[in-house]
Amino acid sequence: MAETSNSVLDNDYIEALREKYREERDRRIRPEGEEQYLAVSGKYAEFVDTDPFTPVTPREPLHDEVEIAIVGGGWSGLVTAARLVEAGATGIRLIDDAADFGGTWYWNRYPGIQCDIESYSYLPLLEETGYIPKEKYSYGSEIAEHARRIGELYGLYDKVVFQTRVIECRWDDKAKRWILRTNRGDEMRSRFVVLGSGLASRPKLPGIPGFDDFEGKVFHTCRWDYDYTGGDVNGGMAKLADKRVAIIGTGATAIQCVPFVGESAEKLYVFQRTPSSVDLRGNAPTDPDFFKTLEPGWQDKRRENFNNVLMGVPVEEDLVNDRWTVRRRLVERMMAQGKVPDMQSLMREADLEDFAHMEEIRRRCDEVVENPETAELLKPYYQRFCKRPTFNDQYLATFNRPNVELVDTSWSHGVERITKNGLVANGKEYEVDCIVLATGFEMSTGFKRRIGVEVAGRGGVSLYDHWSEGMRTMHGHSIHGFPNFFFVGLSQIGVGPNFTSMIDGVCHTVSHIIAEAQKRDLEEVEVTAEAEQAWIETIRAGTPAVSPLEQCTPGYFNNEGQASKTVSNYTSMLYAPGCNAFNALLAEWRANGEFAGFQFRRSNDQGGQ
Ligand code: NDP
Repeated sequence: MAETSNSVLDNDYIEALREKYREERDRRIRPEGEEQYLAVSGKYAEFVDTDPFTPVTPREPLHDEVEIAIVGGGWSGLVTAARLVEAGATGIRLIDDAADFGGTWYWNRYPGIQCDIESYSYLPLLEETGYIPKEKYSYGSEIAEHARRIGELYGLYDKVVFQTRVIECRWDDKAKRWILRTNRGDEMRSRFVVLGSGLASRPKLPGIPGFDDFEGKVFHTCRWDYDYTGGDVNGGMAKLADKRVAIIGTGATAIQCVPFVGESAEKLYVFQRTPSSVDLRGNAPTDPDFFKTLEPGWQDKRRENFNNVLMGVPVEEDLVNDRWTVRRRLVERMMAQGKVPDMQSLMREADLEDFAHMEEIRRRCDEVVENPETAELLKPYYQRFCKRPTFNDQYLATFNRPNVELVDTSWSHGVERITKNGLVANGKEYEVDCIVLATGFEMSTGFKRRIGVEVAGRGGVSLYDHWSEGMRTMHGHSIHGFPNFFFVGLSQIGVGPNFTSMIDGVCHTVSHIIAEAQKRDLEEVEVTAEAEQAWIETIRAGTPAVSPLEQCTPGYFNNEGQASKTVSNYTSMLYAPGCNAFNALLAEWRANGEFAGFQFRRSNDQGGQ
């Protein structure tokens, strides 16, 4: 596809597009916002309560004590554990619901699952493990394998309790220990707790009338039922050969699995409410010579370079050089014109650049999709970062298959109704054998519901009461009133596209604090109320009063079109200067050794550092 610059779009055209974006947004807004979805609890709990991949191994409940309990064996827990091992910390125990490491990459095994961030930047600890990813963009099974590699290299398999969900963490102020209760009847005591259980792992079920009436098969993409479909992550789902399948949703997950289901099913209906922007992927095997050229420290540098390009910071070379990083064109053009790419002018010019980029995305629909009506329906009319951009070289072409049909549901706010035999859209019933829910995950519902662990700190205060007016942390990881407790998540840290790069500084810092506390034999480490407040003010200062995402088409980035009305949406709670600035801030915080903002207490101590 030829690269275009905004100079090819005249002002009238841009104004017409602006109007079109507004119209498309307005007709998608649903007054009930996030309430349109069903929670996976009560009769819907089965969508997450069972592990279709590994039978549960019976065991006796644990009543014991460890030093450091890490809740979650996904990247947050794994990387923190690895850093703790490197720092010489002892007495680590990881606890996870799944039967292996990997978190989201354990549970999500839908066909075609892949990471849309290049593997050399995404996969954590590549230098430490010496692993060379097979391709520029890794598939899910390679990513899950890498999680297991980290578990093995750092000796974490000896330290983990799988198939166990922590349901409560309660601080015992007398004993100076956390008491962790689980769904397996355990009562573990621990000096430190790291909560890294993920904030986006509760699937969303669409609250479509008649949802319970359907008599066929229904599953969510995060628990793919290969017993029903046959095949595996690579496709080949032979059992679908005589099945009519409906996929609801066209977000990043659907974009990846639709081509595989299209290949296998007798008939596939894709129910679309808002089209994704589907950019080129261009995956390629890793050139082993490329890895030979890399110097120690290359992965941090590469991640920083990627973040810089996305933030519009001029770089000498765009190391990642893919369809995420096309923004460099804008910065280069501005510099060639002698303009300084400061944030304000960058935002202004980026707005124009965005129209040009989205025109490329829309043109691609016309180029690939043979049926012009289908091509038109697949065109996204919104700014690029209103939704997470997607990248795939097979998705659009799948609609050229005779057995695949796109069903537009944008005029009725989604699928109208589900019946015992199928789905209704635009007044027409589509009879199907199976419904696949590619409807995503809760991103802005209350913290308690999403985290799923009751946390009671000093004086029995619930974490969720402490956060009733919005999340409160210092640096995203430490909370006043919750001694020896650390949170590793995606909120109140530096914004960036690469989640593993976003959490990297937090994993380092949390392990640094805990290792130091063990070394000094401290009874309690706790962030002060003042330090917590100061960080909240820093976050607020970088957050515009009216979110620019408010103008976006509804989705989880903007709390379904109500961006300003939420206290728990992660996109409204990020450190605006970005991931690199945040990780640098934490590195400096660690390096100066002052533990600013923390109170350390020994037994019979009055406090101080
Ligand atoms: P999303 O939330 O992105 O998409 C959900 C889809 O379901 C949307 O298309 C939504 O439409 C649609 N939908 C919801 N309700 C209805 C309804 N009633 N009728 C019709 N359609 C409906 O979920 P995904 O699982 O695709 O992605 C979740 C997260 O996982 C994202 O953060 C994504 O980036 C991430 N992910 C990352 C990958 C990676 O490579 N790193 C790969 C896959 C996922 P609408 O847009 O109109 O709301």
